[in-house]
Amino acid sequence: VTFQSLSLSRPVLKGLSTLGYTKPSPIQSASIPIGLLGKDIVAGAQTGSGKTAAYMIPIIERLLFKPSKISATRVVVLTPTRELAIQVNDVGKKISQFVNGIEFGLAVGGLNLRKQEQELRKRPDIVIATPGRFIDHIRNSPSFSVESVEILVIDEADRMLEDGFQEELKEILTLLPGKKQTMLFSATMNNSIKDLIQLSLHKPVRIMI
Ligand code: AMP
Repeated sequence: VTFQSLSLSRPVLKGLSTLGYTKPSPIQSASIPIGLLGKDIVAGAQTGSGKTAAYMIPIIERLLFKPSKISATRVVVLTPTRELAIQVNDVGKKISQFVNGIEFGLAVGGLNLRKQEQELRKRPDIVIATPGRFIDHIRNSPSFSVESVEILVIDEADRMLEDGFQEELKEILTLLPGKKQTMLFSATMNNSIKDLIQLSLHKPVRIMI
């Protein structure tokens, strides 16, 4: 499998080759076609498997298929830690560096709240967030809105539950629109992950690499 054979757009292919990604990793070959179709995904994937691009590539392509006329946050990526959020933001920006008009925003603890509020007021297309700070912004930033969210990623779901974010996740799920694509990535599967899958995904395609 090559990235070309996955029918990706020219600017995304150019971004990938600039990053030095010459061929898709197994999780990427499996997830990208399903993600492009807009289906829900549960993927068992370790760090280092290339999971970030496995969801970022279909996200960027889907935003391109159907450009929005207004600025609206259409994608939320939840990560357990600020460090991972910053890393995901970095990878997303690099993959989309030749794509016009996709804006990223961070909503993570430990970074300046006011500055993030100003950034989110512009309603970036893709917001990468840790759960606690994301809820803060939904509650307290009147100019930020999640009503246009079409895609949700729950990255490192197992770690998110281990870190005690279960209640925050549940609350976020009730605040986001019901009709959306959800992609959940987890290195391990246990009963609490299964409960979360039950709660948050609709007929997911399961990808175990
Ligand atoms: P991740 O699992 O998303 O954290 O990615 C792990 C590492 O693999 C990162 O350093 C990526 O830059 C790199 N990587 C991801 N996909 C590819 C690819 N298709 N080809 C080469 N390197 C990749």
